[in-house]
Amino acid sequence: MSGPRVRFAPSPTGYFHVGSARTALFNWFVARQSPDGVFLLRIEDTDADRNREEWVDGIVAAMHWLGFDPDEGPFRQTDNTDAHRAAVEDLFRGGYLYPCACTSDEVAQRKGDNKTPGYDGYCRDRDVPRGPTTGLRFRTPREGATIVHDKIRGDVVTENAVIEDFVVARSSGAALFALANVVDDRNDRITHVIRGEEHLPNTPKQILLWEALSTTTGVTVPIPEYAHLPILVNEQRKKLSKRRDPVAVESYRDAGYLPAAILNYLSLLGWSPRGDEEKVPLSVCIEQFRLEDVSHSPAFFDLKKMAHMNGEYIRELSPEDFLAAAAPWVTPWTSKWQPTEGAPPWTQETFDFAVWEAVAPLVQERVALMGEIVPMIEFFFVSEAPFDEAAFDKTIRNDDKARELLSRSLDVFGDCEWTSSSLHAAVVALGETLELNLRKAQAPVRCAVTGKTVGPPLFESLELLGRERTLQRVREALAKAGG
Ligand code: GLU
Repeated sequence: MSGPRVRFAPSPTGYFHVGSARTALFNWFVARQSPDGVFLLRIEDTDADRNREEWVDGIVAAMHWLGFDPDEGPFRQTDNTDAHRAAVEDLFRGGYLYPCACTSDEVAQRKGDNKTPGYDGYCRDRDVPRGPTTGLRFRTPREGATIVHDKIRGDVVTENAVIEDFVVARSSGAALFALANVVDDRNDRITHVIRGEEHLPNTPKQILLWEALSTTTGVTVPIPEYAHLPILVNEQRKKLSKRRDPVAVESYRDAGYLPAAILNYLSLLGWSPRGDEEKVPLSVCIEQFRLEDVSHSPAFFDLKKMAHMNGEYIRELSPEDFLAAAAPWVTPWTSKWQPTEGAPPWTQETFDFAVWEAVAPLVQERVALMGEIVPMIEFFFVSEAPFDEAAFDKTIRNDDKARELLSRSLDVFGDCEWTSSSLHAAVVALGETLELNLRKAQAPVRCAVTGKTVGPPLFESLELLGRERTLQRVREALAKAGG
């Protein structure tokens, strides 16, 4: 028996959304579980008004970045229009479709107060001739029921009588989504349709189309297994929205997420590996993943948790891998790819790689995202300390003891041995003379030298910055504070 053939079938109408990435990933898991599994990418680009080529590029690039390139494709649904039209004609000849001339206003008017959703079947038995204004509707059976054997939800039974006679093709003969999607899945011999739960209401209709096509074409293709993945919700338990929530996978790359962390986090959206550990290698996810274990309840997409997990992945990198992963932000001139925003305030000429290499292990301990590195280390590579007025006022200008400590530090820093441990001892001693604990004593020094209130460990940073530049910045801060 050959392995599963799964597909990811996005419509390129916007950025590549985390929900889509999760769908693609779960499909990819199923393909990777069998040596001959196939993961196919089909771009469903039939809606010319809403599709844009750049969105297609975004999907392909993001999938490549995340590490799940398709085994087959990308294919274009628009390349199959002839097959879709042929299917419309087959179904029409087979008596499954009938022309309908009703406008939506007419349908609504006939309904009056009757709130039953869907089409009332007005044209079903009226022998309306096919013409330039008639769509084609599917003649759904009035008897029996259609069952979706959903791997996640179990059997979902729909009485055929409540499935409206849905429109399958426009008057032009062009197939609509439900049919085009089925025709392509049949041609691609898809064995598992794994997609978002918003498609569940389409599925009984699509099963009816699938069966009808098997009959009219004489080509029986087994109905695929279905699995409808739970929706993703935000903190307020509202469906994630492209407008409200930060959901574009492309932007995560800019922010400095690592693909491995994203994949691990996405795998937890509706599923979890065995045991207590959520941070698990991809190979374990592939091995353990089962559609039957996916939950049907909405999955909370927690950006904070994803960032936290990213930090854990960052800390696991070897020193060389960390430098390499940071290159697009820190040494962009060495990197093929750079984030779209946040170019560093230094150049190759003003940058000192030895300093970066020395401070990198301290930074690696402290960031959750690669994008946080630049503000944390900029004070090393710019001529004047960055200036944050609010921090400066609070920590230096409006604090007499802090200014006094800085003035006294000029002598001490002028003399002491320039190592982090001596600097540490010197600031402790200085603090004692002013009855300041270490935290209070180091705050004005940090602010004067780095311009920030937080950052990498101070004394290691001073050692790397050097005596002259440290003294210079303390003097400048005192001058600025008017003291
Ligand atoms: N093109 C559809 C979408 O993006 C997916 C259809 C499917 O997976 O069957 O929602």
